[in-house]
Amino acid sequence: MSKDYYNILGVNKEASKDEIKKAFYKLAQKYHPDKKDGNETKFKEANEAYQILSDEQKRQKYDQYGSGFENMGGGAGYGQQQGGFGGFEGFDFSGFQNGGGGMEFDLNDIFSDFFGGGGGGRAQARRGRDISTEIQISFADAIFGVNRKILITKTSNCLTCKGSGAKADTKMERCKTCNGQGKLHEAKRTILGTISSTKICDTCFGVGEVPKETCSSCKGNGVLRREEEISIAIPAGIRNGEMIRMTGMGEAISKGTAGDLYIKINVAAHSLFKRDGSDLVMDLNLKLSDALLGTTYPIETLDGKIDVTIPEGVSINEILRVKGKGVPSANSKRGDLLIKLNIKLPNKLSKKSRALIEDLKKEGV
Ligand SMILES: [Zn+2]
Ligand SMILES: [Zn+2]
Repeated sequence: MSKDYYNILGVNKEASKDEIKKAFYKLAQKYHPDKKDGNETKFKEANEAYQILSDEQKRQKYDQYGSGFENMGGGAGYGQQQGGFGGFEGFDFSGFQNGGGGMEFDLNDIFSDFFGGGGGGRAQARRGRDISTEIQISFADAIFGVNRKILITKTSNCLTCKGSGAKADTKMERCKTCNGQGKLHEAKRTILGTISSTKICDTCFGVGEVPKETCSSCKGNGVLRREEEISIAIPAGIRNGEMIRMTGMGEAISKGTAGDLYIKINVAAHSLFKRDGSDLVMDLNLKLSDALLGTTYPIETLDGKIDVTIPEGVSINEILRVKGKGVPSANSKRGDLLIKLNIKLPNKLSKKSRALIEDLKKEGV
């Protein structure tokens, strides 16, 4: 179960300290748990590898014995740091001071400080702005769903450096934020007294160094304003005025999580159909004779033309139901098309019609 720390950082066994730092810096940027598409497991793994490989003595031991060396017992002081180097324990806790005088505090609390996860008045993770826009789609697209592409000009990740802010193949230099310490001390006032804690420097992610030359496209910010094409998958059956939220597609922010993009969907009205839940409703005008005798009518549906059989003797406002021609819903079912019948009575009768209807009247119709 020996872990390949070189592999984790993506460097070879002969990698220099500088290469190891840069490799970790890149991975830390990529996987930092504060980022929406971050990966805490991978971040921890990279951190663990970096803790070992950045320390000459530990690296030497690791090269000799593999990743289990810290458990070999009594190994030249490697056990000093709180039980091995697995995961979080790779951080140096010697910087934590306990202002409360021998009081214990919850390590999880401190971890949440590391990753900006906690509420309670702690520094929040940086998050880009949420933005919103609206688009209009046709009635049929709202019923069946559609993919639409839009162009939005917003703060996005820099494509040149992929958000790292570093110029390709640059050297590292001391981080000014933490003065090369990789961590920042902060004092927190609590009812039990002041607790000073240490958190990872968010400029260098604990490396203590930052790339010497910054990416020229984004001036080291990792983000910049640019036009971005965004594909929106509009689900079948969406209603007029509904919002689609696209997580992380809002404005990006340097060393933080991108905000969300909200898209309001405006559905254009249809000349024939109205929506009623998962059913579509339309009106159909029948001639009096067709209402009396029954017939077949060609009608337009959203799925194309169909022939509807009108049974004889239908009455006004009667509703015909065409199964499965309505709005798609969950489990691939569809609502129905409801055809509301209206009987168009003639305004004026020809002489012949009048005579025929007089006959009908005699028949008792
Ligand atoms: Zn850049
Ligand atoms: Zn720093």
